[in-house]
Amino acid sequence: MAERLQKVMANAGVASRRASEKLISAGRVRVNGKVVTELGVKVTGNDAVEVDGRLLEQKDTKVYFILYKPRGVISAAKDDKGRKVVTDFFTDLPQRIYPVGRLDYDTSGLVLMTNDGDLANKLMHPSYHVNKTYVAKVKGIPDSKALEQLRHGVKIDSGHKSSPTKAKVISIDKKKDTAVVSLTIHEGRYHQVKNMLQAVGHPVKKLKRETYGFLNLTGLTSGDFRELTNVEVAELK
Ligand code: URA
Repeated sequence: MAERLQKVMANAGVASRRASEKLISAGRVRVNGKVVTELGVKVTGNDAVEVDGRLLEQKDTKVYFILYKPRGVISAAKDDKGRKVVTDFFTDLPQRIYPVGRLDYDTSGLVLMTNDGDLANKLMHPSYHVNKTYVAKVKGIPDSKALEQLRHGVKIDSGHKSSPTKAKVISIDKKKDTAVVSLTIHEGRYHQVKNMLQAVGHPVKKLKRETYGFLNLTGLTSGDFRELTNVEVAELK
């Protein structure tokens, strides 16, 4: 939808409409590379608007982030119980972004966030196998039989057998009778990892998603996010 340039600028948080008009009249605004000084010009999300040489992010400009979700945050754009949600980390964005898939409230780790509905639908489609690696602290120490079961697939919700996975024990704590296990799955069923580990007798005490496809959390700490590079976005598509 085409909108007046000063309205688009105001919506993107550049300045008030009045102040945006002044920036336009002063010749500080370009549309698709050309300086615009009249006030009647209309633009769409496909037009490149620059203010003092800085490209403006419009509401419909597609954006892509990874968030290191802390535990105790809901993977949704809002929560009717008023709990913290993943979009609360992105308050200054003109775009409305949302998570691609969900992590449980008490699971931490990598969440892809975007306003690109086409990409989100594609990545979440069951036929599109994005590998995700989870690290789980579990009760007990899984033996080789349990690991083999996880690798081959176990019965989880309503009789569904999980697809083959990679599973390994990373560390064990004999005193506390716990272990840290890494699981790589491409399915995304509700409570999948917890249910898989429960099914082999090792309830999950703590869960974190470390990777989503080729993306990982390197350089981020809990609560941080970063924008994807153009190369990463192209690779995801
Ligand atoms: N599997 C789970 O059980 N929980 C998550 O949050 C993600 C995968």
